[in-house]
Amino acid sequence: MQAEYDIAVIGGGINGAGIVRDAAGRGLKAVLFEQDDLASGTSSASTKLVHGGLRYLEHRAFSMVRKALAEREVLLTMAPHLVSQLDFILPHQRGMRPTWMIRLGLFLYDHMGGRKRLPASRGLDLHNAVEGAPLRADYKRGFEYADCRADDTRLVVLNAVDAARLGVDIHVRSVVSSVRRGGGGWHVQGVNQKGEAFCIKAKALVNATGPWAAHFLQDRVKAVSPRSLRLVKGSHIIVPRLFSHHGAYIFQNEDGRIVFAIPYAEDFTLIGTTDVDFSEDPASAKIDAEEIIYLCAAVNKYFRQNVAPSDVVWSFSGVRPLIGEEGAGEESATTLSRDYDLVLETEKGEAPLLTIFGGKLTTYRLLAEAALAKLSPFFPAMSGPWTANSHLPGGDFAPEEFDGLVAEFAARYDFLDGFDCRRLIGAYGRDAFLIFGEAKSVDDLGQSFGGGLYECEVRWMMEKEWAQTCDDILWRRSKLGLRLSARQQQDLSRWLEASVS
Ligand code: FAD
Repeated sequence: MQAEYDIAVIGGGINGAGIVRDAAGRGLKAVLFEQDDLASGTSSASTKLVHGGLRYLEHRAFSMVRKALAEREVLLTMAPHLVSQLDFILPHQRGMRPTWMIRLGLFLYDHMGGRKRLPASRGLDLHNAVEGAPLRADYKRGFEYADCRADDTRLVVLNAVDAARLGVDIHVRSVVSSVRRGGGGWHVQGVNQKGEAFCIKAKALVNATGPWAAHFLQDRVKAVSPRSLRLVKGSHIIVPRLFSHHGAYIFQNEDGRIVFAIPYAEDFTLIGTTDVDFSEDPASAKIDAEEIIYLCAAVNKYFRQNVAPSDVVWSFSGVRPLIGEEGAGEESATTLSRDYDLVLETEKGEAPLLTIFGGKLTTYRLLAEAALAKLSPFFPAMSGPWTANSHLPGGDFAPEEFDGLVAEFAARYDFLDGFDCRRLIGAYGRDAFLIFGEAKSVDDLGQSFGGGLYECEVRWMMEKEWAQTCDDILWRRSKLGLRLSARQQQDLSRWLEASVS
């Protein structure tokens, strides 16, 4: 018997995971197929900001900036473990955007989004502020404004975890190879990681394949894409920590782009991003030497301490699916909209196909609401929006309680070090207590893999979060790949092989 669903979502990035969670909470029976690991596409390769996007004001993207600004505070309360305030320092650079323009932009940024928790922007005397110390002496004045950072992968994973709690069937490493309309709905076919074929039926189909969206339509639906997507690769580098305070920098570059330098995993600095037209399979996106040189040069104009390509300890690249024309020139990749467009098609009013084009991590929840609004005529019994006042798993505490929760965790598990406690509460929130349970010493945590990773956490990721491989664990659900030696990573890999066989 073929399984039957209300809605089948293809793509386990932030948009697919957000849509199935929202759908299940409204009473729909949903299934999600992801060809690789959750968040293995663009959603683990973002700059990890939940932000309005100051620079999009220049492109008059007021409506997108307004909704993204307001969404920062919604996500802060929905997932206070994964989303937190991040203050940005913008040094004023002579010959670039004039002070009045920056002040005007920050005024709008402060007032457009209905800010409650986040502080307003302010001017900074960089020669006397701690944030000025890492900068070259010629940067005297600057500005500070607040945005938020997020753990992008864990945002995807915890949306999927909550969706599964609400009854969604999540299938990872299951590629959808063909879909066809029939009997008033959709037949969805594919192959799972064991090489077994699957076929399900669904009343509605959602194409949430991100940068694969147009390809999915052409190749799997055999339809012409109603929008053209321009694929643009963006890369980041990670280097040993360049400064010790907790703020981030936003630097203006001579080509009109901006580059961020963000504190990362306590001991590192994340630098990005680039914009390079891309025409290959998004899964193959990798940083190239020119991008590394570009990013190093961009920050070297500002920092006293020079960054060289040899300092790079890790890098990652993702592909933005921007709505626009292919080959329209590099400059316009920066100016193309980061907003989303949802296109609904039906056959004689039945078997809807909703395709998601574009989007931002920041607005995924709103996108999911908009997707369900489009599908609502096909599901008249479906209930209304609910996610704005919800919590993701482990996130049922107020943002200002975060430090107290870390202290409580550290007191209960006093054999763990401070970094581990902050990392664990930051990743799992209150659920960290469930992972460590009644443990009284490290001996109760199972095998130690190094870098503060123990068997109990690995098992949690495997049993509750669909993790299977070293990359799933070390580079997506955590960033402990930055802390484990090559040897320790091999040991984990061997342990994983043994534990699944
Ligand atoms: P994806 O995450 O790519 O998910 C699509 C999934 O579909 C993939 O996992 C893929 O494997 C799967 N798939 C494809 N075909 C199939 C198939 N046939 N069968 C099954 N599964 C399939 N936004 C912000 O708000 N803040 C930022 O700081 C930010 N920084 C960014 C920096 C860069 C460099 C980039 C590239 C983007 C950034 N974004 C940011 C945008 C944000 O990352 C994306 O909008 C978001 O991740 C897109 O999610 P998605 O679910 O649409 O796509």
